[in-house]
Amino acid sequence: MGATDTPLPLAGGVGGGQGAASERDGAGPPPAPPASGRGALVHNGSLADFIWFRTGGPAEWLFRPADEADLAEMLAQLAPDVPVMAVGVGSNLIVRDGGVPGVVVRLPKAFAKVSIEPGNRVRAGGAAMGITVASAARDAGIAGLEFLRGIPGTVGGAVRMNAGAYGRETADILVELRVALRDGRVETWPAARLGYTYRHSELPDGAVVIEALFEGAPGDPAAIGAEMDRIAAEREASQPLRSRTGGSTFKNPTGDKAWRLIDAAGCRGLRRGDAQVSEKHCNFLLNLGKASSADIEALGEDVRARVKAHSGIELEWEIQRIGEK
Ligand SMILES: Cc1cc2nc3c(=O)[nH]c(=O)nc-3n(C[C@H](O)[C@H](O)[C@H](O)COP(=O)(O)OP(=O)(O)OC[C@H]3O[C@@H](n4cnc5c(N)ncnc54)[C@H](O)[C@@H]3O)c2cc1C
Repeated sequence: MGATDTPLPLAGGVGGGQGAASERDGAGPPPAPPASGRGALVHNGSLADFIWFRTGGPAEWLFRPADEADLAEMLAQLAPDVPVMAVGVGSNLIVRDGGVPGVVVRLPKAFAKVSIEPGNRVRAGGAAMGITVASAARDAGIAGLEFLRGIPGTVGGAVRMNAGAYGRETADILVELRVALRDGRVETWPAARLGYTYRHSELPDGAVVIEALFEGAPGDPAAIGAEMDRIAAEREASQPLRSRTGGSTFKNPTGDKAWRLIDAAGCRGLRRGDAQVSEKHCNFLLNLGKASSADIEALGEDVRARVKAHSGIELEWEIQRIGEK
């Protein structure tokens, strides 16, 4: 990617505009704000600052919209060939060291509101964390959302990934979502439109989940809280939660467990530079400090090769790898 600022390409090829976003730094002409200029637009905005692994290159443009209208306006004005991707907190991402071309949308706190609605429903902004949603549901006596306590990501990430645990997944609780499409249209979709399967949705490329409406069942706050505590304790005991990691690295192959195959192939604790296969849960990769995304990805490929040689099974990546090497 270029070292200097260039105008963000707008639909119709028009550059310039109403002045730079407040977070822009460095020399050169100000980038063209793609929207109202109320949101924060950063050229070469760091993703490694907040992605769980703390590795990887920057977003060519990192955009934090002020509100829904700001986001819609940016998407509508942006030239259609510029790739757009939303990120949450990167708990399921390897961002490659060459960075992510195009616009990366990160929803700020203004999109993290959570409220209770009649019918055992919880409305949550795309940037709200799973634990916040689960806690609000508990306090309102709404059962069935406890599993979100154990998923360290945002509502947007959970909706996109059909995140789940303990036999429950997002598909079981999602009623509808509010989504900004790549062309700037904002729509409310019923959950069925996402075509959910295991850890997968048909959310279109460039779409940003702004809000989700979840539904549970009446429950006793104390019992819901106890279940959330149980989930938290189980996670703490079995996963490297306090490490720089990206969650489960590989999907479980049909009828088997990825961690078992990795262990059997002798990969527990395997290292490449500062990237390591977790000793605690060997389907997790760790950044011990100074690993690059290339180290982490290459270690993952080492693991795949060793598992293939040992058991004949080809593991499939569950972590999303994005950007350029
Ligand atoms: C310790 C640990 C434990 C984990 N345990 C589980 C588990 O039990 N079950 C499970 O399912 N996952 C688990 N994960 C993986 C991860 O937490 C989930 O996939 C989570 O849903 C990702 O959310 P995120 O906000 O971090 O998304 P990111 O990792 O930032 O992004 C993931 C995907 O979601 C998309 N996305 C993010 N936000 C939006 C948005 N607003 N609109 C549209 N698309 C968006 C991104 O484009 C990307 O495709 C774990 C991860 C860690 C680190």
